[in-house]
Amino acid sequence: MERKIIFIAGHNRGGSTLLTMLLGQQKGYFAAGELKRIWQGGFIDNELCTCGKPIKSCEFWNAVVQDAFGGWNGIDPVEVLNLFNEILLARNYPRLAAPALRSEEFQKKTNTVLDILGKLYSAILKISNTKILVDSSKVSMYGILLNQLSNLDLYTLHLNRHSCGVAYSKQKKRTRDEVHWQTVYMTRHSIYHSANKWMRRNFSAGLMRFTTPCYIRIKYESLAKKPQETITQVVEFINEAPPDLSFFLEKDQVAVKNNHMFGGNPMRFQEKVKKIHPDNEWRSRMTLGQKTAVVFLSWPYLLRDGYFGGEKPSTGQEKF
Ligand SMILES: [Zn+2]
Repeated sequence: MERKIIFIAGHNRGGSTLLTMLLGQQKGYFAAGELKRIWQGGFIDNELCTCGKPIKSCEFWNAVVQDAFGGWNGIDPVEVLNLFNEILLARNYPRLAAPALRSEEFQKKTNTVLDILGKLYSAILKISNTKILVDSSKVSMYGILLNQLSNLDLYTLHLNRHSCGVAYSKQKKRTRDEVHWQTVYMTRHSIYHSANKWMRRNFSAGLMRFTTPCYIRIKYESLAKKPQETITQVVEFINEAPPDLSFFLEKDQVAVKNNHMFGGNPMRFQEKVKKIHPDNEWRSRMTLGQKTAVVFLSWPYLLRDGYFGGEKPSTGQEKF
């Protein structure tokens, strides 16, 4: 059976949680969430799973970790985080993408982390009885690492959203609901920081067109406006049968079944019937000066994806 990873690359606050949840409604798909974070947020901090239980009390994740590592104490998460810190550095991008450039020591570290990730991802697919895993970790170097897992085919889905929408969202005060033992807020950033990071994330995610075998770019605005069409587009992209869209109660309303996502936007904990609509609050809430500053700092990729000159969703849905 061919097993696949849909890797969502791009930036935070860009709609990846919504897309992951929608794809996870399909039979044979598992909405895993942000697995890059599981070592800190799951193994060390015991954050909430989407089912509402701390991950170490969740039957699903207990079964996964038992299968992969023989239990929560079967692997040292700090060791994995240290390996990430050593491997996923910007200066390592060339040798991560091209194994021929690796030193013996770098290859050894890469093999160690691939062995660990291979066990985790295989166990998730086995315990969930699915063959397609949706990972919204977004960090492109992590995606390139996943591309080297044996017996798992990687499909890169570069999700982009207007930089003003992202910058506005990152200024809002929002709680991190997965941190159940105290009130913690998501990190807030200035619009300048957000615009800068939006550019960097778009650049590195765009490189995955060359460093991973299958790449597609879609826009959050298209997803939110036409979710059924976008789901169909993604499913076609990964060469699977047409999606079952019966979970759409209305054209813009879905009934989401319980799942065991880890990490993502707080919306994953909210009501199971969700209304899908483009979040364009930034258009009326940001000042003209703020919008101008963000657009000035991020115009190259806004131009690339057709954000200037009105709505052009088709130009943002390129398939390579
Ligand atoms: Zn759970």
